[in-house]
Amino acid sequence: MNFQLIKNSLPNSPAFILNTDELVKNLSVLNSLRKQCGCKVLYSIKSLPLTYVMELAKPFIDGFSVSSLFEARLANEVLMGQGNIHLTTPGLRVDEWHEMTTLLTHISFNSLTQHQCFSVNTPDNLSIGLRINPKLSFLKDYRFDPCGPYSKLGVDIDELRESSYFNKINGLHIHNLFSATDFLPLLKTLEKLRYYFGKKLTQLDWINLGGGYLFNQISDQSLFIDLVKQLKQDYKLEIIIEPGKAVVDTAGYLVATVIDCFQSDGKTIAILDTSINHNPEVFEFQYTPELCEHDPNAEYLSILAGSTCLAGDVFGEYRFNTPLTMGDKVIFKQVGAYTLIKANRFNGYNFPDIYTYKGQQLEKIKHYSFKDYRQQWLTNS
Ligand SMILES: *Cc1c(COP(=O)(O)O)cnc(C)c1O
Repeated sequence: MNFQLIKNSLPNSPAFILNTDELVKNLSVLNSLRKQCGCKVLYSIKSLPLTYVMELAKPFIDGFSVSSLFEARLANEVLMGQGNIHLTTPGLRVDEWHEMTTLLTHISFNSLTQHQCFSVNTPDNLSIGLRINPKLSFLKDYRFDPCGPYSKLGVDIDELRESSYFNKINGLHIHNLFSATDFLPLLKTLEKLRYYFGKKLTQLDWINLGGGYLFNQISDQSLFIDLVKQLKQDYKLEIIIEPGKAVVDTAGYLVATVIDCFQSDGKTIAILDTSINHNPEVFEFQYTPELCEHDPNAEYLSILAGSTCLAGDVFGEYRFNTPLTMGDKVIFKQVGAYTLIKANRFNGYNFPDIYTYKGQQLEKIKHYSFKDYRQQWLTNS
């Protein structure tokens, strides 16, 4: 990415930029995994359901993984029958179920009660599975740990072993971490699965290993490839993965302009024309997003703050080689996943424009206007 070129040629900000080459690179990693071990790959669209990304991804993947009726409809519209759509959610609704069965190819029920309620009268072409909670925690923070105490995500593996439900399903779904940069958790999880169910796994058609692994940032994929090959060989199963962040995160950038600069209690504050509302996880999880201009050895410190009324609407304190002044642009990186989809227009500040960046060219693919904001809040009476 040529950051200077982007800064010079962007007509306005804030702007969300998708680096097409980076997207293709990430998708190629997944495509190569498909070729090397025969796994199926679904893009988990919840991380960024932009149809541009979905269309671009199509040749590299086998379908989409979705969480809701709206996501299923969008996935169906893009795939036009040419791929799989897998859903798992704690939030299945009775009134949506019929339409769901016409859109999905695979479903993993989140609980045994969901299985009881919904598995009757499903069409034959809908493959039924269960999301299990393997009771193996790899995350210290319980808010992100699907296997923490009192988990709402998946059927307890012990409960499944003791029940008769294993005979009523075609597949199993596991998703027990996020942003993992090695495959040891997968190794441990599959060991437990083999120990618990052994030969019974041959009864199944598929195992979906979920998302959570940053395939694009793991240079040695051999453990994953071996694990999948072994599983396929031992139990004659289809193995599915459904990454989200590994597809889009490194491809996303957010460009903002400094619109005010002043001192507060001796520190420099730079107000940006964006806010944490364009990247809400910064506030939710209290982390500092990466900034292209930040140099840990640089002299000039500045707190980058958002433009809303919330005191805590702050990205963090960064170091710059020259003092920031009004009109300067800064670029946040690795903001492709879970940013735009969580973005809101709190305080009435608009969403960023969306651009693609390809062969040193920027192209605007989306602009939101006052009309969109008005439409959201206008009531009938
Ligand atoms: C969120 C989620 C994914 C995608 O996770 P990433 O961390 O973005 O790879 C896949 N499967 C399930 C069930 C999920 O909840």
